[in-house]
Amino acid sequence: MKKILVGLVLVAASAWAQGSRPLVIAHRGASGYLPEHTLPAKALAYGLGADFLEQDLVLTKDDVPVVLHDIYLDTVTDVAKRFPAKKRADGRFYALDLTLAELKQLRVTERFNAKTGKAVFAKRFPADKSEFHISTLEEELQLIQGLNQSMGRNVGIYPEIKQPKWHREQGHDISKIVLPILARYGYATKKDACFLQCFELGEVKRIRTELGWQGRIVMLIEAKAKGEDGTDHNAICTEAGLKELAKVADGIGPNLARIVTWTATGESKVSDLVKQAHAAGLVAHPYTIRIDELPKNCPSVEALHAALFRDAKIDGVFTDFTDVTLAWLKQQPVAR
Ligand code: CA
Repeated sequence: MKKILVGLVLVAASAWAQGSRPLVIAHRGASGYLPEHTLPAKALAYGLGADFLEQDLVLTKDDVPVVLHDIYLDTVTDVAKRFPAKKRADGRFYALDLTLAELKQLRVTERFNAKTGKAVFAKRFPADKSEFHISTLEEELQLIQGLNQSMGRNVGIYPEIKQPKWHREQGHDISKIVLPILARYGYATKKDACFLQCFELGEVKRIRTELGWQGRIVMLIEAKAKGEDGTDHNAICTEAGLKELAKVADGIGPNLARIVTWTATGESKVSDLVKQAHAAGLVAHPYTIRIDELPKNCPSVEALHAALFRDAKIDGVFTDFTDVTLAWLKQQPVAR
């Protein structure tokens, strides 16, 4: 048994370094099994063999980057009970309105609908069980680098700058705060196991030019045409748009629907986006594989993996289920 485990770990460790197979990126950690973005969810994803672990980043009131999917706190924590006075006029609770010391008092739970209180994914980790907390970017980097030392691997990081335009409108420059922390932890060049990611084209350009980031950066692409910041996602997905993007970015992170859609009878239809991205010199890491939320009319998670890896030839994927995606790749070897 031990030998088999060691073998699996070696396969996972070599994918990034050797480019031997597409990358498995643990979306918010092992979020299919534990509350997203908690350190236990990251440790589990690490143990399941992910190549990269994702960090979504937002700022606290005192400018500390913390690992959270949203600028809001009310869909994954008990903030409404603990700090009712922090509610804004729009009815939401923002990480940016709490200091780190206040955020640390919150209990994190499985994602729920703030209005109904119902779990978003019914079969995932039960709500309000055990004890989970929000962690800072640095705490998470220390966990990953600590595991890299104790397990002899080089699992990478995949930090996302969340809503930089909104942060700046609120008087906080998130990219300017995050980049020096990454550099301090050894993530600064394209040799380092790090992909920075962002949904805002203006910020991707700014990170590369004005802020001088020399590491890898991936432009995230929404399924819908326009982002809230004004980014024209359809324009990026043209030959000219990808060519232009390649001047500042290393890859694209598109919504799955931009790569594969399914007919009513369950046949896959693969777009040319990955082919065009490759022609422009960009890698493609789409999001997100979920066994409990397949794309419309997609017959199975196996069919989804096959369409993405074998037909579309993606270079990596964000998955809530690291083990499921790795198992598919092990059974159906695909070169990168
Ligand atoms: Ca993300």
